[in-house]
Amino acid sequence: MGEENNNKLLSVPMDPERLYHQAPCGYITFLPDGAIIKANETLLNWLGYTAGELVGRMKFGSLLSKGGQIHYEMFFRPMLNVSGSVKELSYELQTKSGTVIHVLFGAVAIKDEQGGLLAVNAILTDNRDRKRYEQDLLQARKRAEVEKQRLTHFFMQIPAGVCVLDGPDLVFELVNPLYQQLFPGRALLHKPLLDAVPEVRNQPIWNILMDVYRTGQTFAGNELLIPLRRTEEGPIENRYFNFIYQARTNEFDAVDGLLVFVIEVTATVLARGEIEEGYREQQALNEELAATNEELNATNEELSETQRSLQQMIANFEASERQKDGFIGMASHELKTPLTSLNAILQVASLKLKGTADPFLNNAMAKAGIQVKRMTAMINGFLDITRLESGKMQIDHKKFNLDELIKEMIEETQLTTRSHIFQVTTCDQATVSADRDKIGSVITNFLSNAVKYSAAGTNVIVNCFLKSNEVEVSVQDEGIGAKPEDLQKLFDRYYRVESADTRNIAGFGIGLYVSSEIIRQHDGRIWAESELGKGSTFYFSLPVGNAPN
Ligand code: ADP
Repeated sequence: MGEENNNKLLSVPMDPERLYHQAPCGYITFLPDGAIIKANETLLNWLGYTAGELVGRMKFGSLLSKGGQIHYEMFFRPMLNVSGSVKELSYELQTKSGTVIHVLFGAVAIKDEQGGLLAVNAILTDNRDRKRYEQDLLQARKRAEVEKQRLTHFFMQIPAGVCVLDGPDLVFELVNPLYQQLFPGRALLHKPLLDAVPEVRNQPIWNILMDVYRTGQTFAGNELLIPLRRTEEGPIENRYFNFIYQARTNEFDAVDGLLVFVIEVTATVLARGEIEEGYREQQALNEELAATNEELNATNEELSETQRSLQQMIANFEASERQKDGFIGMASHELKTPLTSLNAILQVASLKLKGTADPFLNNAMAKAGIQVKRMTAMINGFLDITRLESGKMQIDHKKFNLDELIKEMIEETQLTTRSHIFQVTTCDQATVSADRDKIGSVITNFLSNAVKYSAAGTNVIVNCFLKSNEVEVSVQDEGIGAKPEDLQKLFDRYYRVESADTRNIAGFGIGLYVSSEIIRQHDGRIWAESELGKGSTFYFSLPVGNAPN
């Protein structure tokens, strides 16, 4: 059925003239001198000429642009003569209105029997689409170029060393300023890596580079040691780098280069090394100090232990008070003698040590001194008690300035205590007739309690008010304070407040008792005001004016 139809169509007579004129391409025939002898309507339409204006009147060359004419004379005609045909040359034709159309031009020579050129039959196809495509391509290329430049600019600005190594020889294709700064003055650009930086040849880094190129796998190095020269002539230095090697691929996904990002961290690594070295030294020193401290702590611990067992002994001594006092008196006497000689030895040793710069010895001597003072005060307290109990406490009345005594006692306390801030807000001048040493021990007892029962760094405020017939001394602290029910009992013999706060504070509960006895024997008053957790103020007053001389 289809075949029959085809045959029918084929039997319709074709009009070659119509085919010639209405073909979708231009046909033109011209003589060897270029004179046009025939052109089809398609071409006439493109050019805007009538057949009458073109045929027999114009030459083919005049349809071409200037460059086209030269090309036609120099290349097209000789070619046609030699090979008899020319294929697909790109030409610009000028229309009657002066515009330009792009055509592809093919031609066949019509020759006589002797091979002489009779005429040229040419076929022209519209090349505008292709031209447009070419222009688009050109534009795209330009855009790509701009992009590439922008990228290059970006690379140049990155705050890290960046380079692009091209091809298997790793030729430096791009080197940004920071990368170049790693090798000041060394020529890198356009050189293969091994020519530019030959010292990497026998280093592990070279194998890493080759691996990345071979496998395409990115490699990130952290603080890697790469011995390199800075300058061409310089020595090879141990340098450390953080870096990334990344494969660059072409349009077929094959590796064709490497991208390198690098930051030198030599200074950081070396500085850390020094710090670590310093740290190790410090550590050794610390260990030494810790050992010394431990020794000191052990000594302190022993002393505290003695104190605790004494406390325990007192508590456990269930026999009569008299027995207890008798024992304490005896023990204190026994202790006093070796303690006095120990104190003397310490003082001589301290004198001999003067001028030695050994901080450990100086520190140890100071601490030993403090401990001896503490024990002496403790034993004196015990002795005072026994004297008190046996009515043997002697009061030696003498006139003296109480304000001066206060200042002296503060200075003395400050010699052994650096942890608190002592302030004397008011200190009226007051002359009293009293036992200077004993009143001194009352003041010291107040001061040392203020220090013992308050936190380091807090204030201890001392006042001395002269009133009409008495002088009132107070020592105020910002410490643990006391409950009202405890307050009265503080002046009782052996009374100590039992609480979590006081558990680790050494003491026997005799200081305030002895103080109150001393003040009582001076016809004075002694009392305390306190608020739990806020602080306490301990007072005593002594009569003035009617003091015997
Ligand atoms: P010691 O302090 O040796 O125990 P004291 O007789 O000096 O003996 O003091 C008796 C008790 O009074 C202490 O154990 C303590 O509980 C309390 N005390 C003394 N002074 C203060 C103070 N400044 N703040 C709080 N409590 C104090």
